[in-house]
Amino acid sequence: MTRWPDLAQVKAMDAADPLRACRTRFALPEGLIYLDGNSLGALPVDTPTRIAATVEGQWGTDLIASWNKHGWIDAPARLGARIAPLIGAATDEVIVADSTSANLFKLITAACLAQPGRSTILTEPGNFPTDLYIAQGVAAVLPERRVRTMPAAEMAAAIDGDTAVVVLTHVHYKTGAMLDMAGLTAAAQAAGALILWDLSHSAGAVAVDLGGCHVDLAVGCGYKYLNGGPGAPAFLYVARRWQERLRSPMTGWMGHDAPFGFGDEYAPGAGMKRFLCGTPPILGMAALAAGLDTFEGVAMTDVVAKSRSLGDLLIAGLEQRCAGAGFTLVTPRDPDARGSHVSVAHDHAWEISQALIARGVVGDFRAPDVLRLGLTPLYTAHEDVWRAVEILAEVMESEAWRNPAYAERAAVT
Ligand SMILES: *Cc1c(COP(=O)(O)O)cnc(C)c1O
Repeated sequence: MTRWPDLAQVKAMDAADPLRACRTRFALPEGLIYLDGNSLGALPVDTPTRIAATVEGQWGTDLIASWNKHGWIDAPARLGARIAPLIGAATDEVIVADSTSANLFKLITAACLAQPGRSTILTEPGNFPTDLYIAQGVAAVLPERRVRTMPAAEMAAAIDGDTAVVVLTHVHYKTGAMLDMAGLTAAAQAAGALILWDLSHSAGAVAVDLGGCHVDLAVGCGYKYLNGGPGAPAFLYVARRWQERLRSPMTGWMGHDAPFGFGDEYAPGAGMKRFLCGTPPILGMAALAAGLDTFEGVAMTDVVAKSRSLGDLLIAGLEQRCAGAGFTLVTPRDPDARGSHVSVAHDHAWEISQALIARGVVGDFRAPDVLRLGLTPLYTAHEDVWRAVEILAEVMESEAWRNPAYAERAAVT
């Protein structure tokens, strides 16, 4: 196990970090230790000017001509192609559109329609709520479909001849556990099912090789590790071999083969275009483009190595500096089995999260009892993790979290 280092040792780790210069790509408030980039990525320095340029230099100047002149109409495919190398996909297998929830609806439905003899949508209990709710919504609108849940450890054995699609989240939002993408994909396909991976807590933080794992379908978020801003457009991936065989149930005009032919009958567009629905949100796309710029010149191998190093340090700190404080590590210790956040359970996780925020350490709370600390390799330094642990140790030793002010609950946790 990593021994808890002193500050000089931690500073030496940061000095040797190949990504140390990337932090200047972000406008982080002075003195804040931000460990929530897995929920809302930090603001890139260039985002305000990029949005202003789109608003004033394009919309305000060229108005509707901008759809052609500034390539607005191709933004979904252009941004998809930029996300593709971060997740091991080909550039024509990813497109940016809608929200992760809407993309789940499109792809789960399309997968079910492609598997007419199979009735089960198989997923994990405790999956991210929207994934479960959307699966339930698909089952409600398609005849004779049902949602079945099975713990991840028993998933491979549960996939059978009735399984239409397996819907799994690669890195669990609460526990930080990372599933075996290659193994579960192979198990699904061996039983004739499709697999859909939700990469919301993976893209931009952990190694993802959709092509190498022969994955069928995937979706993911633009506002977490991709730094696209609050409510940023999401992405979806369909393996080339499935693109012409799947039909989106949201047959909007932007997914039509010829949107400006204005015909009365829907005809799906070629490739990923058919998974678009309505007019792309260009201002959100401009912010997402600036978010993706923060990965410019960055090797994903360096991102992954740093994520692991930060995670090892955080786990060592929680176990060694906060021993006896009542925390239970819920994230796997094995770096191959965890994503880029670390979670601990504690009966007073909410109050502790509030005491940390009051001291400039921003993590978050996930009901009922989880304190979650996110590690974003582009801007989290080892020193941030070290200071956060020292502050947490102080909060626990002094029992500062018992201050009644920290017991009040907010709407968004
Ligand atoms: C964050 C997250 C989402 C978010 O979906 P939205 O439609 O953007 O609200 C979906 N799935 C998972 C696994 C997530 O972590």
